[in-house]
Amino acid sequence: MEHRHGIAVSPGVAIGPALVLDTEGVLIPHRDVPAEQIDAEIARLHRALDETATAARGDRERMTAKLGPALGNIYAAQQSMIEDRMIRSQIEARIRAESYSAEYAVSRVIRDFVRRLEDAAQRLPDHNAAEARRRATEFIDLERQLLAALLGHPSNPFDNLKEPVIVLANDLMPSDTADFNPRTVRAFATESGGPTSHTAILAGALEIPAVVGIGRFRSDVSGGDIVIVDGEEGVLIIDPDEATLAKYEAKRAEQIARPDRNESLRDKLAVTHDNVRIRLLGNIELEQEAAHCLERGAEGVGLYRTEFLYLNKTAHPTEEEHYAAYTSVLRTLGPTRPVVIRTLDLGADKFSSVSGAVADEKNPFLGLRSVRLCLNNLDLFKTQLRAILRAAVHGDVRVMFPMISTVDELRRCKTLLNDVKDGLEDAGIPYKRDVPVGTMIEVPSAALLADVLAREVDFFSIGTNDLIQYTLAADRNNEHVADLYNPADPAVLRLIRLVVQAGQREQAKRPFEVNVCGEMSGEPLYVPLLVGLGLRHLSATPRKIPELKRVIRDLKVAEAERLAEHALSLESARQVSSYLRANSAV
Ligand code: PEP
Ligand code: MG
Repeated sequence: MEHRHGIAVSPGVAIGPALVLDTEGVLIPHRDVPAEQIDAEIARLHRALDETATAARGDRERMTAKLGPALGNIYAAQQSMIEDRMIRSQIEARIRAESYSAEYAVSRVIRDFVRRLEDAAQRLPDHNAAEARRRATEFIDLERQLLAALLGHPSNPFDNLKEPVIVLANDLMPSDTADFNPRTVRAFATESGGPTSHTAILAGALEIPAVVGIGRFRSDVSGGDIVIVDGEEGVLIIDPDEATLAKYEAKRAEQIARPDRNESLRDKLAVTHDNVRIRLLGNIELEQEAAHCLERGAEGVGLYRTEFLYLNKTAHPTEEEHYAAYTSVLRTLGPTRPVVIRTLDLGADKFSSVSGAVADEKNPFLGLRSVRLCLNNLDLFKTQLRAILRAAVHGDVRVMFPMISTVDELRRCKTLLNDVKDGLEDAGIPYKRDVPVGTMIEVPSAALLADVLAREVDFFSIGTNDLIQYTLAADRNNEHVADLYNPADPAVLRLIRLVVQAGQREQAKRPFEVNVCGEMSGEPLYVPLLVGLGLRHLSATPRKIPELKRVIRDLKVAEAERLAEHALSLESARQVSSYLRANSAV
């Protein structure tokens, strides 16, 4: 039995036989062809290229219909690679000049591209290296498909599945995931990939348990071996013993029962045992996740991470692309449910590879990212603000600025928003003028200045993911400092309390909301603490909403307040965590 740890990207437990995807397992039958067969070989190559291009077009249309244009666009890159004249002519030249078979020429040309990309990845800074590696895996996928077309193999290993499997791969390609059906693919685990990789995003959208970024494991497992994927703990277990199997069977059964237990809560209000109303909202990245919010009983969207419009883009989205995505979310949510559209939070770990969008910096988390980047590129910022204000006529839109660290920064954003409104007014373009404005509180300086910032806006949303990393100086993506990165740290709790108190003082004068939209608010363990600290709005990934409702409905505010007060008197994250666990019914 082997335990391998990776990054948990989509929750759930799955147990089943492994299907190991090995892109290098194809046997090329012969390397050379006789001179008189060269024309026939080239004709064979062209047929294979055309067939693969048609399949990629089909994949793109199917995925667009299934999951929307942002995910469908993943296939556009693949399609354009197949149709690329330079690749075609290089393969053809190898067949002509060196009498290579079509298969061998394909493999040689594509592997050259892969090698160059992998070499480049060694020299490039992290975020560009990740992009180069992603391109390299797309090329390997193309090779696999072309070889399958040439050799007449079924190009889709999922076509002939007789029983559900767990897919294990180095990295998964869009063409693999296109046909994933949760009934036949129970889960997947990959050696590469990070939490914002396409694979991770697709896993979330398809709701298939997944763990990525495990590091090399494929040489330790064969197709048909029993494996376990735990998408909550981020673990892959190869060849489990009886006791481990029994433990995870029980966990799986409990998880399967859980949604049913919570299903009945969907249409109920999130109200505590002693009748205090809590608003539960959903966090979304892709427009089609708006429907997940409603399916899970969220009251609106508390955080729309619009930087995901950069998924698979090499250029900035246009105003119309922004507008189309926002109106689609608003159509799903209807005219009265709130939708908090956060302006672009690009840079550091998010989509920093879009050409020229983000500078190459030594310390990107402390650099020109997020709202700083937008204020440094006013065209980019105004394009998005115009689209938000135009879309706002269709629903209850609220605009929110990320990573605000000073009051001047916030004021500049508001001034720009007003300029954009004036521009739309002058041009006679329909838009909404009185859109509520909020700021994320995710930098300690903003938390400390919350009383000043509160005077400037209509709401706060506490981004604990970043607030924790900036408070404790511990990278949220670095496993080596993961023990420091802890939502239960008393320093974090004190900052949250400061923000809530500033919000409450403002609330005494006018309507004002304080929300928490970091992952902390989706953790049942922290919900009593957050309610006890005075929070009445929580925004979490839609899948978590039913369970949060259950926790809230069992909660008494007076008890939660006592719990929070005691937690605040403790000295360390370890003490707070054990106190919360000891006092939790979760
Ligand atoms: C946060 O930092 O808590 C947050 C919600 O924003 P993101 O995770 O997108 O950085
Ligand atoms: Mg953040």
